[in-house]
Amino acid sequence: MPDNVTSTKVPVDLLRKYDRPGPRYTSYPTAPVWGQDVGVDEYRQALSAASQSPDQPTALYCHIPFCRKRCYYCGCNTSVVKKQASVDAYLDSLVREIECAASHLGQRNRISQLHFGGGTPTFIGIPGLGRILDRIDHLFRPTDVCEKSIEIDPRVTTLEQLDFLAGRGLNRVSLGVQDFDHEVQEAIGRIQSFEQVEKILNHCRTLQFKGVNFDLIYGLPRQTLKRFNRTLELTLQLRPDRLAIYSFAFLPSLKANQAKINPEELPPTELKYELFASAVERLTAAGYRQIGMDHFALPEDELSLAQQDGRLHRNFMGYTVQSAPEMVGLGMSAISYVADSFFQNVSKVDSYKRSVSEHGLAVYRGKSLSNDDLVRQYVIASLMCNFRLDFARFQERFGITYGEYFAAEHESLDAFVDDKLVLVDQGGVRVTPLGRTFVRNIAMLFDAYLTADRQATAGTFSRTI
Ligand code: SF4
Repeated sequence: MPDNVTSTKVPVDLLRKYDRPGPRYTSYPTAPVWGQDVGVDEYRQALSAASQSPDQPTALYCHIPFCRKRCYYCGCNTSVVKKQASVDAYLDSLVREIECAASHLGQRNRISQLHFGGGTPTFIGIPGLGRILDRIDHLFRPTDVCEKSIEIDPRVTTLEQLDFLAGRGLNRVSLGVQDFDHEVQEAIGRIQSFEQVEKILNHCRTLQFKGVNFDLIYGLPRQTLKRFNRTLELTLQLRPDRLAIYSFAFLPSLKANQAKINPEELPPTELKYELFASAVERLTAAGYRQIGMDHFALPEDELSLAQQDGRLHRNFMGYTVQSAPEMVGLGMSAISYVADSFFQNVSKVDSYKRSVSEHGLAVYRGKSLSNDDLVRQYVIASLMCNFRLDFARFQERFGITYGEYFAAEHESLDAFVDDKLVLVDQGGVRVTPLGRTFVRNIAMLFDAYLTADRQATAGTFSRTI
């Protein structure tokens, strides 16, 4: 174990106690409470309002909803396409939407974050990526510290594509790994060797991509503790800067592709807890800091440093040090946050193309935040990102006293204090290293929409563990 590193052991009985359906809090209020009373007109007005602050940077997200083959476990908004004409038609709409959003934003054209997600963004190849980047580079100016990131499938992405992306200013990559075990890979319909991942990773390092991330998943079919520990060992051998370890949500009634998974091969709940506890213990013992419940970063990575200083942020693209008050989502199903409102695009390719052709934009639902939403959003984001809430800063920001506003919620924190997940003193609330695994449960206390009824609604949210 490296010096000054303490590993975190998460007792399985606590995992059992706190495992329940709950939001991931990539947004507050969460998507299930957004409504169709918010649409294209409201989005247009919000973009125009944002244009009044030309000095503020914006974050951009581009969704590329195509893959070569559908993985059995996949829960993303993607599809398998065979015809180049279908890809080109989608890119035509995407370019049109980029142009329309940029025209409403006017002089508000600086960007501090650009992220390509999917699907498999590199599926569209160098010509497709080049076309989108050309348009963005023409219409927006990156800040000096702009994070430009892309999700990489090591089976599909070529070294030439990585060279191209680095040449175009991309500086962060995230690799989908999931599990290195061949048996597990067969059960999820995604075969990729250790060597494939290693080759892509080494090339990313040569190109000096920063914050290289691996995505792993626990709870997949045929995973055993021994197999998953081997995946963790191989991961530690490669030592990516960041790791996200997601829980697999098996929802075959919502995701038809998951019907190819044999439910009898899924690890039982107790084993799933052990897999996650093992990941937390092994990664923290190897020197990784637990950034969020299921995110880890090396101590020298900028996410760790930002968290230490209380300046970490989180949005739909993940954790970031680049805070942008507004985020513009582009492409099918993409989400935007503009002028204190959430907006989401339609989730089907055909309706997306139709809406962009009629309106230039494709929003179909959203939510304008009330004052109470903004207050709670701040508290939840502070806990989720920086594992603490400072009472004085809260008061300075909102002109109200935490103790008075959250008297009832604060009382409910006692249960977490008893379980040593939270420390409370006069200055604020702090989540302990053990409590990091349960930070979603702690945040749920401050969620005004989470009534007992909704907590019980199976399928609305994934489980917290
Ligand atoms: S590559 Fe990713 S987005 Fe595509 S099918 Fe597999 S899991 Fe889903």
